[in-house]
Amino acid sequence: MVLNNTDLDPYTAERGYYECHACGNRTTSETHVGSCPECGGTVRNIAVARE
Ligand SMILES: [Zn+2]
Repeated sequence: MVLNNTDLDPYTAERGYYECHACGNRTTSETHVGSCPECGGTVRNIAVARE
């Protein structure tokens, strides 16, 4: 499986998906992301767990 930044599927994500409030950049991480790697802005976790 290849992760593509333009085709993120949060439903298959076991890692955290984060989206920047400021610039909209999305990143993935196995650990908590506190700030955007692109602009340093606040990110939010967009990978909502569904059970
Ligand atoms: Zn950003």
